[in-house]
This record gives sequence, C-alpha cells and structure tokens, in this order.
Amino acid sequence: MIIRLLKKAFIKFGGNFILRERNRTSRILFWHGVDINPDPIIEAENINKNDFVKQLNYVQKHYEIISIDDFYKRFTENKLNGKEVVLTFDDGYRNNLTVLAPILRKRKLPFTVFITTSNISNNTLFPTSILRLTVYGSSLKKLFIPTLNLEFAIATKDDKKQTHKKLNKYLKESTLDLVEQICKDLIANFSSKEWDNIISKYSVVNPLNWDEVRELISFGCTIGSHCVKHICCHSNQKEEELKYQIIESKKIIENKLGVTCNYFAYPNGDYTDRANKYVKEAGYLMGFSTEKNRIDPTNNELCTLPRIGAPEKVDTFKIALSLYPNKTTI
Ligand SMILES: [Zn+2]
Repeated sequence: MIIRLLKKAFIKFGGNFILRERNRTSRILFWHGVDINPDPIIEAENINKNDFVKQLNYVQKHYEIISIDDFYKRFTENKLNGKEVVLTFDDGYRNNLTVLAPILRKRKLPFTVFITTSNISNNTLFPTSILRLTVYGSSLKKLFIPTLNLEFAIATKDDKKQTHKKLNKYLKESTLDLVEQICKDLIANFSSKEWDNIISKYSVVNPLNWDEVRELISFGCTIGSHCVKHICCHSNQKEEELKYQIIESKKIIENKLGVTCNYFAYPNGDYTDRANKYVKEAGYLMGFSTEKNRIDPTNNELCTLPRIGAPEKVDTFKIALSLYPNKTTI
C-alpha cells in the first residue's frame, strides 16, 4: 500500500519524466496476451485490457511507436532518436487477434507477434499455461509426475505456490523432451473430461490458429518466430534441437503465411552462443532477448537485442519504462 502511494506521488510530481529525459534510449517492449479480465494467477501471461489501454495511452503520448521494420532500419543506419518504442507480443495467444489487434488498428499502430509454430498448428497450450491450469485451476489435492517419480501437494494455497515454483523451475531448465513429458504427466492427473472442462474455463490462454495469424497480418501485424515449440534455448538443450527449432520455425512461418519472417525472439530470453549462430544462419535480420540492456547500435549484438517485459500495474509500468534499460547496465 505504501509503495503504491509512493509510486503515485512519484508520478504525480513528474519523477518518471525526469528519469525519462535523463535516460533517453529506444525501447522494445513485450507483453503476451491482452484480454478482458483474465484470471491474474491462472491466466497470468495476459494483461487486463483496461490496464493495457492505459499503458498504451501513456506510451503513445510520450514516446514514438514505430514498426519493427522501421526500428531495424534506424538501428542499422544509426539513426535512432532515443524516443522510439516497438510493441511486441510473445507466444501467439488468440486474444492478440480478438482483443489486442482491434485496439491497435483503431490507432493505426504497428506491432509484432512472435509465434510458436507447433502450438499454432496443433492448438496446444504452452507449458507454463499447462502448469498454472493444473496447479491453480483444479481441485485436486496432489499432482503425480511419474517422469520425475515425484508427487506434489496442491491442497492449500501455500502448497500450490511451492509446487508451482518447483515445477516451473523444471520447465525453464530441463531439456525439451523432459518438459514435454512433464506436461503430459501433468495433464494425465485428470480424466479427459475434467481436462476439457479446465481448458474451456480458462480459454484466455488458447493460442491462435493459422487462419487467425493470417487475419492478424491484415491488422498491420508483423509475425516473428518464437521457435517451433516453446523451447528455452539454454545450454542443457541438444544442439541439433536448437538448430531445428530456430531454423525450421522461420521456414514454417514463411510457407504457411507467404511472408518473410525477419525477426526472432528467444522464449524465456535464454540463449547460447550456438543458438545465436543459428539465428544468423537462419537469415533473421534481428533476434531479441529479454535483457534489460540499452539499445546501442555500436554495441548490441543483432541477434540478442534487449527487450523490456511490460509490468502489469500501470504506475509500475510508467516508472519502469523511464528507468529501464538503465544507463548503468552497460
Ligand atoms: Zn514465450
């Protein structure tokens, strides 16, 4: 409560504008889904539409929103003015078309969605969504994960929090094969009818399909790649898998949509030197991480450009946007 009031007072007296002037740099922002009253815990990748509109109003008023293509041009020609903001959205949620795109089209604002092609093709949920739905969206008392030979309690609020934390670590740090197996195990704790009920109740986390992605392009959206599956590109993954995920997803997007896929965003922001090599080999113009460094054409690697995750709370967003990427981080 006190922190909230302090943030309000800070903004009221223009602290965020002072920070912004002292910290001029272009910014690539990322969100995931935008929806009408998403559940803040179970559908946590999604921001409430009203909050997003307030954030957008603020960005539109105080920054210059440009397309990712314009950003590439200014970056490579070293012509950035330090006021640019690029709007990007990760994973490819259906609400990017149904809720987000109409808001942006009305304002004629360009945006980019980084899609995970296998989820688009097969209508499968993302691993972190499966975990939240099974832990927080069910009335089970425990979850059994045979692959790990472990049982996790989810009877109380605290159980759920602990279990979510432990399993989320597995999802973020394991190989793709193990992540897929854990997801299967999580779902196997339910009958198919129970699982259908859960996923229909929390439909905010549904991905787009290819027809919807095509429609999204007609709204002025650029489509980038976020791998074939939502693989975290860390050093535990097999090299061949990383290569396939990065190179193949570009080909799939281009074949399905008839456009050139020029941009790539690392799921979870993880990358290795090898993965960067595949981003270049695939022919992407730019790749994006989630590092909070500054945009600097003379210093940045083209395949790991920094991006800022947009905080959900509007006041925090206003301060974070002026603060990050901070000068001291280079
Ligand atoms: Zn992602």
